[in-house]
Amino acid sequence: MTIKENVEKILSELPEGVTLVGAAKTRTAEEIQEAVDVGVKIIGENYVQEAERAFRVIGRRAKWHLIGPLQRNKAKKAVEIFDMIETVDSVRIAREIDKRCRAIGKIMPVLIEINSGREEQKAGIFPEDALELIREISALSNIKIMGLMTMGPRFGNPEDSRPYFIKTRKIFEKIKSLNLPGVEMKYLSMGMTNSYKIAIEEGANMVRIGTLVFGRRD
Ligand SMILES: *Cc1c(COP(=O)(O)O)cnc(C)c1O
Repeated sequence: MTIKENVEKILSELPEGVTLVGAAKTRTAEEIQEAVDVGVKIIGENYVQEAERAFRVIGRRAKWHLIGPLQRNKAKKAVEIFDMIETVDSVRIAREIDKRCRAIGKIMPVLIEINSGREEQKAGIFPEDALELIREISALSNIKIMGLMTMGPRFGNPEDSRPYFIKTRKIFEKIKSLNLPGVEMKYLSMGMTNSYKIAIEEGANMVRIGTLVFGRRD
């Protein structure tokens, strides 16, 4: 299957209101360009440096989402390139993004990353700490919280991911119901190649798909 065939199939099958993010780690700018040409509107990058390389070729013909952890020393570059940062999980990194955005007159849409499996080594805020973090970050004027993102633990059987998607959805709904000033719970980013259908069943409206768009990573 070519990238074109893959993208056409995915886009024709995604329910209305669900946005595809093409997860592009390790892909060349040419591959990413091909995906953009056939209708992938948002490219997800894990690393600022990889994004920079692809951005030089593709520029604003796509939207760029950071879907990997952000190091503070990369924040300046990141806020220039990205249209959304999906992986905010601390006040510390949020403050850095806020400061860098203020310097260039930008308001950055962000998602708060939830460590829904409460895995020690994983990025994301623990579910029970999400509300407090969101309250603190919502006070920053050059950041706009637009929703939540989660990875969840990796399983061979995607059905095993369901409880973590349900847990994240519950936090999403709860925070939405609070109508916090400066917080708009609009996007729920969950699900990858093996789990996106289940994520959509559990309320995801943004899915990050790599392998199924670009083929296997080797
Ligand atoms: C790699 C990656 C994806 C996509 O993974 P696939 O299994 O290739 O679809 C999605 N989200 C994040 C954060 C990733 O790093």
